[in-house]
Amino acid sequence: MCHIYPQKAVFHIDVNNAYLSWSAVELLKNGAKTDLRKIPSIIGGDPKKRHGVVLAKSTPAKQYGIQTGETVSSAKKKCSMLRVVQPDRILYQHSSNKLIEVLSCFSSEITRFSIDECFMEYKNKEFDSILEAAHYIRQTIYHELGFTVNIGISTNRLLAKMASNFQKPDRVHTLFEWEMEQKMWPLPINELFMVGRASREKLKQKGFFTIGDIARSSPVLLERILKKHGVTLNNYANGKETAHFLSHDTVKGISHSTTLPFDTNDFEYIRKVLMELSEKIARRLKQKELYFGLVSIEVKTEDFKKRSIQKRLQIPTNDTALIYQTALELFEQLNIKKNIRHLGIRIGNLEHPYQQVCFCNEI
Ligand SMILES: [Mg+2]
Repeated sequence: MCHIYPQKAVFHIDVNNAYLSWSAVELLKNGAKTDLRKIPSIIGGDPKKRHGVVLAKSTPAKQYGIQTGETVSSAKKKCSMLRVVQPDRILYQHSSNKLIEVLSCFSSEITRFSIDECFMEYKNKEFDSILEAAHYIRQTIYHELGFTVNIGISTNRLLAKMASNFQKPDRVHTLFEWEMEQKMWPLPINELFMVGRASREKLKQKGFFTIGDIARSSPVLLERILKKHGVTLNNYANGKETAHFLSHDTVKGISHSTTLPFDTNDFEYIRKVLMELSEKIARRLKQKELYFGLVSIEVKTEDFKKRSIQKRLQIPTNDTALIYQTALELFEQLNIKKNIRHLGIRIGNLEHPYQQVCFCNEI
């Protein structure tokens, strides 16, 4: 059967290796002679701090076996001339806004999905086909902003997102329903949107290896393995965008608090309470397979006065050790002299790992 591309479609625009590209473009703009993307380089936290990890890496760095998530010091051991650049959240937000600005010339219906990804409803009027339009948009972004993107095209957001994840960088891919069997079903299950590590392991144990296996299985069987999430995955594997799609950002925060059995200012005791609260939060965070970008604490003193303080993390993480560490740091900053009556910790700015650019290994 011969299929013709529609004139109206959903585009998913995804910046290739966003943090590294954006830092590279900025350095070039400021007169740098070398392009980070062309030398062994990484975007990584401060190596002096314990949590200095590789957030993004260039293709040449990848050739040294450097991996996202490993410590900066371990990456440096693999390549002595490795260039380490610290992440710059303000620059990334600015670059993200620039992308939206350029896209606004092509459509008024744009939804941001994460700092480096967005959806765009596109109606073709000027080009021979939507494919041609997408290539034009991809090139315009590169010429105006200096970084490359992948564009996925389909009839719904789910399939458009799946499509932009095909071969990278600087590509346009379509994934219409009639192309699913050939383009999407042979892929391993972890490539399906919303298949996290936990779901992947459970599915593998039951003999599911490709997205096609999930698509062809019955929703009832999948429900038995993964509860409601199994049914959702069956829909996704068949290209159906359910009402839940993109709704995972409805979890805004996770918090736990406790009233102490007696008012106290014993630091060792308070430390233990903070640790217990952090562990409870960590457990819930892991269940939800989310990342957090904010930690706050609330303290009520013996006179019932409330004080709270928060810290925004440089980059969202799923490193649960940081919950306790940050909570403790915040508590010390408050420098409370009175006895404590009630303690609470909250983590916020929750994101799904699929919204995370820092763990995208591909360029
Ligand atoms: Mg990206």
